[in-house]
Amino acid sequence: MNNTTTSVVMMDSPEAATIQTVTGWVDRHGHFWGDDESMARFAGSTHQHCDKNPEHGIRANNSYCDACFEERELTRFMAMERQPWDGVTMLNLHGTDTYFGDADDLRDYCTENGIYPEQLKLVVCTPNYPREIDGCDYYYDDLPDGGDLPLALQEAFDNLNEAIRASEPLSWSPGNIAAVISDDILTQSERQVLEARSNGE
Ligand SMILES: [Zn+2]
Repeated sequence: MNNTTTSVVMMDSPEAATIQTVTGWVDRHGHFWGDDESMARFAGSTHQHCDKNPEHGIRANNSYCDACFEERELTRFMAMERQPWDGVTMLNLHGTDTYFGDADDLRDYCTENGIYPEQLKLVVCTPNYPREIDGCDYYYDDLPDGGDLPLALQEAFDNLNEAIRASEPLSWSPGNIAAVISDDILTQSERQVLEARSNGE
């Protein structure tokens, strides 16, 4: 389409540019958004009301609503399958970084925080075991195609993998099962102390 006549317009000619008045949304920082009012309002503000539930109050524009998050987490917990706790598997206090390794941990938490064990939302954790290391994979870039490791090195990896297979979990992650714990985690007298505390004594 090179043969269409492109007329020459001089930079200083009247038709090159004209002063016009334009109307549009300008945010608090002076950025022009044309007719996009909502983007201008978003860019020019820091907070907004929760759009799911007006009672949740306000949240920062670049964050989520804490109340909505807690409601979702609670729904997720309530929907979990429930199993009696075996007393040894790590437990997680749902939605937090708090973990309990045994009944003593649970008891301490309850007495320190003035809360009954049955009020805790506890989730059974799943173990994260160390993965075995394949020496050929590990040195893949340095080995010739289809090449094996030197025997001594392979034996060392075999020994290491034996230790890895025998290892305890490296860590625990909250699973999808809620833990039901037995009532006798607290002694009768510990319960009485809690009761006294909740009665404001
Ligand atoms: Zn909300």
